[in-house]
Amino acid sequence: MKKYHIVTFGCQMNISDSERISTIFESMGFIECPSIDEADIIIMNMCSVRQSAVDRILGQAVRLSELKKTNKRLKLILTGCFLESDKFKFNRIFDYVLKKEDLEIWPQILTDLDIRKKKMDYLKIDPKRSSSFQASVPISNGCDNFCTYCAVPFTRGRLVSRSHKSIIKEIRDLAKKGYKEIWLLGENVNSYHSPDDINFDFASLIRAIDEIDGDFWLRFTSPHPKDFSDSLIEALAESPKFAPYINLPAQAGNNEILRKMNRPYTSEQYLKLIKKIKKAFSSKRSGLEREIAISTDIIVGFPTESEEQFLDTLELFKKAEFDMAFIAQYSPRPESHCYKNMADDVKKTDKRSRHKILTESLKEIGEKKNKIFQDQTIPVLVFEKYKSYYLGRNRQNKSVKIFSKQEDLVGKIIDVTISKTLPLSLEGNHIYH
Ligand code: SF4
Repeated sequence: MKKYHIVTFGCQMNISDSERISTIFESMGFIECPSIDEADIIIMNMCSVRQSAVDRILGQAVRLSELKKTNKRLKLILTGCFLESDKFKFNRIFDYVLKKEDLEIWPQILTDLDIRKKKMDYLKIDPKRSSSFQASVPISNGCDNFCTYCAVPFTRGRLVSRSHKSIIKEIRDLAKKGYKEIWLLGENVNSYHSPDDINFDFASLIRAIDEIDGDFWLRFTSPHPKDFSDSLIEALAESPKFAPYINLPAQAGNNEILRKMNRPYTSEQYLKLIKKIKKAFSSKRSGLEREIAISTDIIVGFPTESEEQFLDTLELFKKAEFDMAFIAQYSPRPESHCYKNMADDVKKTDKRSRHKILTESLKEIGEKKNKIFQDQTIPVLVFEKYKSYYLGRNRQNKSVKIFSKQEDLVGKIIDVTISKTLPLSLEGNHIYH
């Protein structure tokens, strides 16, 4: 049997796409192999969010052409997020440069692969799951927002939402199979509107998923603050399956920088939104479920960002009391508005020191906030065994180190009594029942 191997770069969305690509190849009679050296087909699922990913792919050219010399039937496929302007460079290396959006018709395009089975219902591609307890479900693809630093609208295209019926069916199947954590994915996940019913929005989807039988935690990424409606906040707080954790990208805390980023909110509006979310959870839920954890994405060193403007971001950080932050030092992304029109004029040393200042602040806040978990017994989903302990995450998506004498805990939700709180994680002992 012919073998395929997928190399995935980038975000959760790309990992989820690779699961669907696996299904397509297995339906054509291929089997997955663990390394590119054994493969007859190598699929690179790329991400061009950063130029470094493009460079890494181009850097593989020599190795790939050597592999082709030793395996004459080897075919190379490139897919994922790439810019049209980069396509000609990839055409020199790969046999096929294919759009992920055309996945359903790949078997028709890949005419020289000697495909064993050509007919299948490609309209409903079930992903080949890489985990038996955690699943990602894409609900939309692309984005209409055109933040000035971002290339997603050019690489993934404009926003297209999936039918709510097919999303609900997929999640029902996952719940029946016993999946414990389900992530809804979309570049701008909360601007979702079902193509079958314009009134069926993200809030309706959350409520519908909450009705599905099963013992699973629901999460999503990534929302945009501008689309965070009151009805969505209410739906989240009132849906017990939704685990109290939201990643809410702020990107900056200075209003002039936010304007230059084309992020249509002010830092005051952002803080007001956080307040509203926290209030809804604390009034509609009980116990530790009232404690919604909020993380954010921040870019430091955006073009023209002065020291004073950065201090506004630091202030936002302190006021919002984030539980986690994904801090990026600005680098221009090809094709984005900034890449074409703005100089990358903040010194690298300043970007590094701003990053460090925010990380310190995050730790200080975390140290204080995580104390609420001390001596509490909380449910934790176990992800992996590492040396003599397990690693998992709680409902607030905090990393938890677990001590247990029991085997086979991976993929289970267990009770853990927290014995130690750290700035960015927790530690505790498994409570046996
Ligand atoms: S909302 Fe997100 S994906 Fe869309 S353009 Fe802005 S940063 Fe990019």
